[in-house]
Formats: sequence, C-alpha cells, structure tokens
Amino acid sequence: MNALHTSVHHSAVFDHPEMGEHENIVFAKDKDSGLSAIIAVHDTTLGPALGGCRVWPYENPADALTDALRLSRGMTYKNALAGLDLGGGKAVIMACPRKEKSSEMMEAFGRHVERLSGTYITAEDVGVSTEDMEAVALHTDHVRGTSATGLGDPSPYTALGVFEGIKASALHVFGSRDLDGKTVSVQGLGHVGCDVARKLHAAGAKLIVSDIHAPAVARAVEEFGANAVDPSEAHRAAADIFVPCALGAGLNARTIPQIQARIVAGAANNQLQTPADGNALKERGILYAPDYAINAGGVISIALAEPGGNDEHVREKTRAIGETLALIFERARREETTPEKIADKIAEEKLASAKPRRN
Ligand code: NAD
Repeated sequence: MNALHTSVHHSAVFDHPEMGEHENIVFAKDKDSGLSAIIAVHDTTLGPALGGCRVWPYENPADALTDALRLSRGMTYKNALAGLDLGGGKAVIMACPRKEKSSEMMEAFGRHVERLSGTYITAEDVGVSTEDMEAVALHTDHVRGTSATGLGDPSPYTALGVFEGIKASALHVFGSRDLDGKTVSVQGLGHVGCDVARKLHAAGAKLIVSDIHAPAVARAVEEFGANAVDPSEAHRAAADIFVPCALGAGLNARTIPQIQARIVAGAANNQLQTPADGNALKERGILYAPDYAINAGGVISIALAEPGGNDEHVREKTRAIGETLALIFERARREETTPEKIADKIAEEKLASAKPRRN
C-alpha cells in the first residue's frame, strides 16, 4: 500500500464527520460465512455499550460506517436519558437480511462480540430476528433479546412508554393528563402504533388512524371506532395530538406548517428531518416529545429483562419516561429552547457527571 492510500484510509475513518468521541470501532470479517460487520462502541462511561445489530444491504462500506457511528452515538444518549447504567454502541452487518444472512454469519458475529469482552452488548435491530440472536448466543453471553434473556417483543413496552409520554405532554399543554374526549391522529398501526391506539381508545380518546397497509386500518376502524384518513393526511388531521408511529423524517418543512395538533408525541425514530424542524415546531407553538426519550421503553425492556419474565421493574422504569419528559418540557420552557435540545443536554450532563467516577 502506498502513502497516498494510507492517507485516504485515515481520512475515511479518523476524520469521518460522524466520528465524534467514539471509543472503539471494530471491522469484523469472517471468510467462511461471508460476514462483513462494523461494531461501533461510542461511549462506556455509564456501563457496557448496549445497542442492536442491524443487517442491511448497504451500498458500500462507507455508508455502513456512517450508520454504525450515528446509531451508536444515538444509543449513548438514549440509554443515558432512560436512566440505564449502560453506554451506547451499535453493530451493522453488510448483507441482505433475506438473501445473504445465515446462522453461520450470525455465529461468526457472535464470536466477534465475545472478543470485545462485554464492552459491547448486542441485541435485535432491523433485519435481525430472535433466532439470529440465539445463533449469536452460542458464542457469547453479551447478548440480549434471546428467549433466555428477554421479555420477547419490545413493542408493548415501547407503546407503554409512548402512552405515558402522551399523557405527560397533555399535562404540559392542556393542564391535564386526561385524554378523555381528546382527538388523536395515530400514523402507522404496526407493532407499536396499534398498541398505542388501543391504550388511547381505552382512555377515551377519539382516534384518527392511517397506515399504508389497508388491513391494519380496517382493524383499527372496527376495534376502536376510529376514523381513517390517507397516510399523507395524518399530520394535518383536525386533532389535538399527532402520534407518528410509522417511519422517520415525517416532521419537515412541508408538513410542519400543516400540523393542526398542539402536541407531536409518537414512537417513530428520527422524526425531525433536520434540527431546524425542531425550531419550526416551537415557533408554531407545537410541543414535540423528543423521539429517543419517548420511545425508550423497548430498550429498557431489552436492558433490564431478567430470566423468569417478571417485568414489573421494566414497566416502572418505562412509566418513568413520562416524568423524564415532564422535566424536559419544563426546562425547555424555562430556557426558551426546544425539548430535543434539552434531552441532549440532560444526557450529556449525566455523562459528564459520571466521568470523574470512572477515573
Ligand atoms: P412496524 O413495522 O411494526 O410498523 C410500522 C407501520 O407503519 C406498518 O404498519 C407500516 O405499514 C406503516 N407505515 C409505513 N409507512 C407508512 C406511511 N408512510 N404512512 C403510514 N403508515 C406507514 O414498526 P414498529 O415496531 O411498530 O415501529 C414503528 C416506529 O417506531 C418505527 O419508526 C420504529 O423505528 C420505532 N420504534 C419502534 C420500537 C419497537 O419497540 N418496536 C422501539 C423504538 C422505536
């Protein structure tokens, strides 16, 4: 390799725009199974770095690295804000989950996780099933989300946290946690959205629902007496509260001016397309519950699950999402800034105050 190549490689990794303060990045290969993976440990100040493993057909290794760096940093903030004694990390495997993933590949990944001696703990993410984690667990104990370690599907816990977050938002904006008679637009009726809609219905809310999958809409109309709208109309529906539970980037320069609700509080990851969109919501007087704060119930269930399946401590920690959000909203009001900036600040403060303890 000549000097030019070396410098190109350095600028591709150490000068990477997402590099930040990452502690450790492992490029993991296994010839026999075809594994190509990147494990990014962002920060272990609060504890071992917990974050899922994503299997995705990235177009090139640079995209995979960008994803791993961003996602692992996000996990540090999410775990810190949720009050977990865990740092942030994430793994990405460069493969098509349907055509290329295999149990051999997951086993090889498990051997690489084991080499990290517990500084990284893996779990399911996009493209990864419980069976895949069982294969990983053949080679390492540093894994969650298997039948031996988990409470199963994290979605019900995510939904519980979102529901608590909606009530905390209602208290801040309407002066009461009571959702009876409030109109709520739920966008996306998958694992989380459907469960949130059920809780809202039980609390007396009037539901407006939407999904690109027609049977999910039909079920919600039938079960909750909901009104269906086209998914593209969900954000502009005449509702008090908008609950995005589909995909990310739904809050942007096009949609924000059309939102009628006074609260946006839902499970979807990365709801703001750009940081400026958070300011735009504030300027319109719309309260935004930061996504990684309100949707932490799933990671809480993965982190705190104990063999045996008693979940009361998980539910308690998940319900506390409501209190965390109440603090965030109050501080954002006091400091005249946006809730997502305060969420970041609180996570950073927790890390900063824990750092001297470690040394
Ligand atoms: P899911 O795949 O079960 O459900 C997503 C639903 O959204 C599907 O029914 C899909 O048809 C629908 N959808 C897709 N595009 C849409 C659109 N443009 N308009 C309306 N509906 C659309 O996923 P999920 O597990 O319910 O997760 C929902 C969101 O919450 C995702 O953004 C996910 O990243 C986030 N999240 C989930 C968890 C969890 O525990 N499952 C935890 C944290 C965050």
